Amino acid sequence: MNFYDYVRNIQNFPKAGINFKDISPLLADKHALANCLSELVVLVGSQKIDKVAAIESRGFYFGTLLAHKLEAGFVPIRKPGKLPFKTIKEPYELEYGIDVLEIHEDAIEEGDRILLHDDVLATGGTARAACNLIERLGGKIVQCNFILELEFLYGIKKLQDHSVCSFLKF
Ligand code: IMP
Repeated sequence: MNFYDYVRNIQNFPKAGINFKDISPLLADKHALANCLSELVVLVGSQKIDKVAAIESRGFYFGTLLAHKLEAGFVPIRKPGKLPFKTIKEPYELEYGIDVLEIHEDAIEEGDRILLHDDVLATGGTARAACNLIERLGGKIVQCNFILELEFLYGIKKLQDHSVCSFLKF
C-alpha cells in the first residue's frame, strides 16, 4: 500500500497560497486507516505510554485510536474555551498573530509518560506549545508522533529536545 496516494493536496486552503495536505482519503479507506494506525504504533515501539495527548482537531482522529492500541489514557489539547474544567493556557505564535492551546489542569499527573500526537508537523509552533503544556503539568514526553511531516518547514527544530517520529514525509 502506498500511503502517499491517500493524502491529497488542496490548493489555497484554508487561505490563498497554502497547499493543504488532506488525509481524508486515508481516513475513509478501512485498510489505509487500519494500516496507518499500525504504523503509528510501530513508531512508538515498546516504550511504555501512560497517556496519549492529541491536538484539536485533526489530532483527535488517530489520538484516541492510538491510546486504545497502546492501552493508554487519552488527553485532549484544545483551542481556547472548549474545555469545560479548569485549564492552563499556552500562547504560541502564528505567521500573523498569536493563538492559544489549553489543557485541563488535572489531565496529567507528575511523571506520566506521554505520547504527543497530531496529524501534521508544519512549522512546529503548535506541537511546541502542546509540549510546554504537558511539561508544565509534570508529564514526560516520550515521543512526538505525526502522520505527516512537512520537512521543508523545519518544525523539528522547535522540538529538538524531544524524540520526533513521523510516518510520512513531504
Ligand atoms: P504548525 O504549528 O505550523 O506545525 O502547524 C501544525 C498544525 O496545523 C497542526 O495542528 C495541523 O493540524 C495544522 N496543519 C498545518 N498544515 C497542515 C496541512 O497541510 N494539513 C493539515 N493540517 C495542517
